[in-house]
Amino acid sequence: MSRRKDLERYLRLKQANPDYTGFRGSKAVAAKPPLALESVVCSVCHRKRNVESANLPADRESYVCLTCQEAQAPVPAEGTG
Ligand SMILES: [Zn+2]
Repeated sequence: MSRRKDLERYLRLKQANPDYTGFRGSKAVAAKPPLALESVVCSVCHRKRNVESANLPADRESYVCLTCQEAQAPVPAEGTG
């Protein structure tokens, strides 16, 4: 059982870089602004979805959820033979 190598490496890194705190520094946390979510009903599947207001059409009733958008997207004709 010899973890000395790891310890030495850690100490060397720490010396070279005083901010080094290990694998996860506390600095890495970036605060995101809270998203404004709105509860809308998809006009295709009629399921309630929580969507960012920024992604919503002005006319909420015409909203189509991502799942339905993907389902409606043209599928590349492949293997039709
Ligand atoms: Zn839908």
